[in-house]
Amino acid sequence: NAAVATAATAHDPACAEPLAVLGRDVTVPLVTGGEVTYAALDYAASAPALQRVWDDVAAYAPYYGSVHRGAGYLSQLSTDLFEQSRVTVAGFLDCRPGDQVVFTRSTTDSLNLLAAVLPADCQVFVFETEHHASLLPWTNAQVTYLNAPRTPAEAVATLERALADREPYGPALVCVTGASNVTGELWPVKELAAAAHAHGARIVLDAAQLAPHHPVSVRDLDVDWVAFSGHKLYAPFGSGVLAGRADWLQEGEPYLAGGGASRKVSRREDGGVDVEWHTTAARHEAGSPNVIGVYSIASACRALTEAGFDNLVAREQQLVTRVREGLAEVPAVRVLSLFGEDAPRVGVISFVVDGWNSSHFAAALSAEYGIGVRDGLFCAHPLVRTLLGSEPQAQGECGAPEAAPGERSLNAIRVSFGAGT
Ligand code: PLP
Repeated sequence: NAAVATAATAHDPACAEPLAVLGRDVTVPLVTGGEVTYAALDYAASAPALQRVWDDVAAYAPYYGSVHRGAGYLSQLSTDLFEQSRVTVAGFLDCRPGDQVVFTRSTTDSLNLLAAVLPADCQVFVFETEHHASLLPWTNAQVTYLNAPRTPAEAVATLERALADREPYGPALVCVTGASNVTGELWPVKELAAAAHAHGARIVLDAAQLAPHHPVSVRDLDVDWVAFSGHKLYAPFGSGVLAGRADWLQEGEPYLAGGGASRKVSRREDGGVDVEWHTTAARHEAGSPNVIGVYSIASACRALTEAGFDNLVAREQQLVTRVREGLAEVPAVRVLSLFGEDAPRVGVISFVVDGWNSSHFAAALSAEYGIGVRDGLFCAHPLVRTLLGSEPQAQGECGAPEAAPGERSLNAIRVSFGAGT
């Protein structure tokens, strides 16, 4: 039980300001009696949307209208805000001139979009340690799964070897995460991008866990594309981004066929239909877009930029140290790490507790301390398997393990937070 209590102290009232956003004033009853300010320490799954974002959305609500098509004032204003959001996101990601920002539903959607526009005979290289969103979309390509590296340098060397050895030497794409959703560890993105380019490959950065915690500069990291989700970046659910080089996006088939993606549609004499598709981001955004979601992402980008990543990183690192030190005091706890104790990491910490079923442990944190965490395999089954050094318990795709009551589970528990305000 000491482990539960230690994890509980990770959330003390002094931390309430930076950690709690929507959760700030939410009190929940405890099964053991009394009530507690609820701490949602599951930011890696979905971070609570910032009050600032809700306020921006509320301020926009009276002017809400259809985008791209209407001639009325509200439509024009909404179209303006929608397109301005693209510019804000491009600035947030420090994109290069000519890069495109495509609005999607999520990181998963963004990576599936990229998978759908890969050039013919493209080879894809991906570490087995990736989140399933990065690991699985490449069904149209020949995929090389790279073994889990145990140091960042080994990651770069492994990729270099694989790219150099590829046969035939055609188009290639590397997909890599910036920060692990299991260990929180940072990956050597800039070095991996340099290795990819040195071997004639492109690289896409899965920034789902990186973007909420660190500035992401497409230019500086020299990645070809970056993908992230609004709901992990303090915006509500339902919108995401794929940003980067225009060429593959322009040349590939539209991700969704329909209105908005097509510039001109005409009947042919033989009875068929000819379509001229847009070559801008609109090519992949057919249908009425999620204007509120897109506007929320831009609002969150502005809020994080104004708060300053230097401040956010410094605050978050204090919290990371505090949680890790607390957990280190409990002998039954083993924190999971691929790159070792000293690896730089974001506020995502997974651990196992001797003698505890992970789902019971997570349930106890919620019921007895008002702390919401996650347990399971975190949609990264091969990675968690490697980290546990054993076969984890069978479970649904991302859900809680199906352990019998009292049965010990080898799945993990994850605490995650951020300093966004
Ligand atoms: N990539 C990483 C590293 C993630 O942690 C997640 C979600 O947990 C995703 C991709 C998928 O994000 P989404 O569910 O928003 O598509």
